[in-house]
Amino acid sequence: MDDRNVFIVRCGEVALKGMNKPYFERMLAERVKKLLRRYENVDVARRDGLIFVRADKAHAREDVVAEIAKVFGVSSISPAVETASDLDAIANAAIALLRERAARDGIKTFKVEAKRADKSFPIKSPELASRVGALALRACADLKVDVHKPDCLLFVDLRKENSYLYEQKIPGFGGLPLGTNGKGLSLLSGGIDSPVATFMMARRGMRVEAVHFHSFPYTSERAREKVETLARAVAVYCGRFDLHVINLLPVQELLVERCPEEEMTILVRRFMMRIAERVASETACGVLITGENLGQVASQTAESLIVTDEAVKLPVMRPLIAFDKAEIIAKAKEIGTYETSILPYEDCCTVFLPKHPVTKPKLKNILLSESKLDAETLIAAAAASRETVTMYPQDF
Ligand code: ATP
Ligand code: MG
Repeated sequence: MDDRNVFIVRCGEVALKGMNKPYFERMLAERVKKLLRRYENVDVARRDGLIFVRADKAHAREDVVAEIAKVFGVSSISPAVETASDLDAIANAAIALLRERAARDGIKTFKVEAKRADKSFPIKSPELASRVGALALRACADLKVDVHKPDCLLFVDLRKENSYLYEQKIPGFGGLPLGTNGKGLSLLSGGIDSPVATFMMARRGMRVEAVHFHSFPYTSERAREKVETLARAVAVYCGRFDLHVINLLPVQELLVERCPEEEMTILVRRFMMRIAERVASETACGVLITGENLGQVASQTAESLIVTDEAVKLPVMRPLIAFDKAEIIAKAKEIGTYETSILPYEDCCTVFLPKHPVTKPKLKNILLSESKLDAETLIAAAAASRETVTMYPQDF
């Protein structure tokens, strides 16, 4: 039998995809393979709607699991022991596993659960569980069965070719494999929300790129580095992507000079959207993504969002629209962006911040203000001035 560690990877929602199921499974297996490419002696195979990963014993199981867990579309992962599909072999594997747990963690009780995927196997699931349990009990004098709160709950997954024993189901992020749902351009600030929004769209299978606006020299070099750090943290999940960095100061200076101060916030947002839309059209991104959230700040009232949307033709996806801040923070901590996001560097939105921003902008007034400048030329110049940095996933 194969001497490598085995992992069972479950595909979650991918399994619901009907006719497209093989396509989604293939994409998922490809992603798993890609993330494990720096590991030696790895094999990724699809069977019965599951993905079986084998990796050299030299690699710690936790490391392999952590890597697989970053793949969108994975619902859970179980490090497993592989045995032949016969009762004695399964019982022996169970005994070895329980003894190892007793020696290592001092477990006192166990329970066996079984599922017979191979219906031609002569013993039904409940009986299989009780027979393996009885054999293990006889062989492990120090252990008892506890069906309510066992120290070790051992699953037996009996399949035609081989069977698998495991005790853990480590949850993945779920979602859909990257590359199965188009490409979006994310407006990435240095804040808490936009990295989470980027992550959430990528989790639905969307490839992403990002655009960041700064107001150098009003915003510092450190603020830009912060955004690059955030982008790299997101790239851990989204794979390699381009970050387009644009200086918004020329636009902001003109707006300050020619338009009412209280409209600055909404005007800046509309320009950000249009510049992003221009970049998107040149990088084949079909939607814009923002971390906006209904009611969070003055620029995110329903009225402001409507006036913002009016500036562009591309759909604007706002995955955080109905989240509470506490939920967004919890997600940011989970994906590892929070600590960077709270570093206190200035954002371009805080430069020229109006004292009393309009919270219910009227489109008519905003269009009138914009008619005082040559928007088209400003947008084209800003989009063309972008510097593009490619973000590579890095351990974060
Ligand atoms: P965040 O935590 O994402 O910064 P926020 O609550 O601070 O969000 P705003 O500053 O109003 O909200 O920005 C709303 C959204 O606009 C952000 O989530 C982001 O998508 C986009 N955005 C804001 N500032 C920038 C920027 N400097 N560059 C690119 N996008 C930005
Ligand atoms: Mg912000």
